[in-house]
Amino acid sequence: MSSSSFSESKLKTLDALLRPKSIAVIGASATPGKLGYMLLENILANGYGGRVFPVNPTHQEIQGLKAYPSVIDVPGEVDAAVLALPAALCAHVAEECGRKGVKGLIVIASGFKEIGRGDLEEELVRIVRRHGMRLLGPNIVGILSNSDKLNASFSPFLPYPGRSSLVSQSGALIVAVEAASHFRCVGFDRMISVGNMADVDIVDCIEWLDADPRTACIALYIEGMKNGRRFVAAARRARKPIVALKSGVSALGGAAAASHTGSLAGSAKVYEAAFAQAGVVQARDLDSLFERTLSLSLQPPMAGPHLCVLSNGGGVGVLAADAAERLGIPLEFAPPDLQAEFRQAMPEFASAKNPVDLSGMAGPEMYDKTVRAALAHPWVDGLAILYCENSLTVPMDIAKSIHGAIQDSGVPGKPVAIAFIGGERSAECLAWFMDKGVPAFETPDRAVNALAALREYARIRSEAAEVLPEAGGESPDRAKKVMAAARALGRTALTEVESKEIFSAYGLPVTTTVLARTEDAAVEAARKIGFPVVMKIVSPDILHKSEAGGVKLNVKGDAAVRSAYRDILAAAKAYKAEADIYGIAVQEMAPLGTEVILGSVNDPSFGPTVMFGLGGIFVEILKDVTFRVAPVSSIQAQRMLAEIEGAPILAGARGETPRDTDALVQVIMSYSRMIVDLEDDIAESDANPVFVYERGKGLKVADARIILKKK
Ligand code: ADP
Ligand code: MG
Repeated sequence: MSSSSFSESKLKTLDALLRPKSIAVIGASATPGKLGYMLLENILANGYGGRVFPVNPTHQEIQGLKAYPSVIDVPGEVDAAVLALPAALCAHVAEECGRKGVKGLIVIASGFKEIGRGDLEEELVRIVRRHGMRLLGPNIVGILSNSDKLNASFSPFLPYPGRSSLVSQSGALIVAVEAASHFRCVGFDRMISVGNMADVDIVDCIEWLDADPRTACIALYIEGMKNGRRFVAAARRARKPIVALKSGVSALGGAAAASHTGSLAGSAKVYEAAFAQAGVVQARDLDSLFERTLSLSLQPPMAGPHLCVLSNGGGVGVLAADAAERLGIPLEFAPPDLQAEFRQAMPEFASAKNPVDLSGMAGPEMYDKTVRAALAHPWVDGLAILYCENSLTVPMDIAKSIHGAIQDSGVPGKPVAIAFIGGERSAECLAWFMDKGVPAFETPDRAVNALAALREYARIRSEAAEVLPEAGGESPDRAKKVMAAARALGRTALTEVESKEIFSAYGLPVTTTVLARTEDAAVEAARKIGFPVVMKIVSPDILHKSEAGGVKLNVKGDAAVRSAYRDILAAAKAYKAEADIYGIAVQEMAPLGTEVILGSVNDPSFGPTVMFGLGGIFVEILKDVTFRVAPVSSIQAQRMLAEIEGAPILAGARGETPRDTDALVQVIMSYSRMIVDLEDDIAESDANPVFVYERGKGLKVADARIILKKK
């Protein structure tokens, strides 16, 4: 079977679960207030067109429908069974469903893995797999779908209708968003509660919703994922915009902080990186999730960086400008010809620059003319139209003129967002705009955030298609020999010499390094390398060499090499008497450059992950580092360099010459390839410091460290 037909058949099996034509409610109750009552009531109350079968051994009829003692007794096919039963009863019923030929189970109950009863959950999964069923949950509120008029959940209503669909790991959040959707007029078509994700998970839902004709935008609420790489791959393949809100910031690898990277990684940063690489738009909070989902479901992506802001008050215009700066789409002055057009339509004292302040005098006509001019001008990539309620104008008149201008502008593909700031009359206009498919908000920040999401989407989609580093050729074999030799001695901490050998197999520019076991050998090595040299202790028991007095820089001449040799050995023995010492590494002394650090961790969700930051002694204090899931493309590597706080230092701040960032990008890519190739072996690694030189002069890895996974 080809992989595409496999995934199609996988999607079909989800159809029965998520778009069922018939539903059995097992544990349906005749007693108001009970969960089994509520679920059946909700399914019946919203106009669902499929067949519904209550299952209950003690009743003949429930809520006007014939009830069946067991699902086995139900006549005809059952697509989905909703289990409104306590956890302990679910396995038995699942078995019956399997025998009946039910295609999907919706298991509402909690009391599984989340309270330590992983055994109950595993049993359910075994039954489901054995019968070829799919399972949503457990520990969920259910599913809601406007297009199927189906509310198989204990949320009281269907959401306000719209073109986005929400997948949430939190059930409570579904109920809350469903309620808020009405209040905010932000529409959703489907809501899927995935809970413990024992079988159907977020990735399955992304794939299914991407093929669902009623969904234009996929919104995710994520708490954590086991298989982050599968998520990244699925999100990259998706043709629809995806917005994600990730909650929970937990430190990762606190215990495994043998390298710098371990202590600097945090899953929140890794998630952020993965979202960027997957082309997923991020929402910082619930408000933002609403705004971003809404605009992405209604408006086209914002193709370029130029945002134009029209308002009838200087204050809100400035607030919009502040928000735009914060959200990565800073305002620029409009080009002179556009300013001239604006000026023709507005009073002389008003400002046509951008943000455009039409003044409090602005009536429907002024809005009409300026909206048309802005949309028609090629410089404008996105338009925020703001209005503050005042006594000179009627909000609905303004709304109509704005909407008319947007409609007649004849300019396709340019996103718009509205903010009407005021009272009830403005709120009515917002609902009116939403009804017409124009995202409208009660503050300028929100309108700008909606447009920023459209810009982010356009940008990250273009980046997600980027080329990845080539496979390593013979590099893995060379690396594996070094690792095997260390493992044969029972070691997982590689020495700097070994680590550099592996780095260099992947084309990373390490300093020339020779391991000397005697004073004479050290002198010979130093002469060959050329003075001055650097000398360092080589011991698997000493990971932080300078701390042990194990590093001597700038060693010049034979005599100096000999005394450095003795000094280092003495210091190392004083530091750790029982340390196993392999010898002294003599290496080329690299000229000073800008110090950066590269690191890698094995993230529990995303696997091999690269870290980059400014190095030196401040790295752990400033924590100015950034992450990407490996392998890293050249565009993502460039973004890593650009997004640290210290970015100006690399770009050439204060009259310094810019650093060789092209070489650094190549090195990040090769390094990322290395940790993917050697994923089964490398637990973590770092290169600290790496000296980066002037443009064209490359870089040097001065120190390297690799910690192997225990086997
Ligand atoms: P540690 O195990 O303490 O991290 P390093 O190998 O990083 O030891 O050496 C400590 C410092 O010495 C580095 O941070 C760097 O500034 C300098 N250094 C190390 N090796 C070289 C080298 N080959 N050329 C120039 N400077 C070096
Ligand atoms: Mg170091």
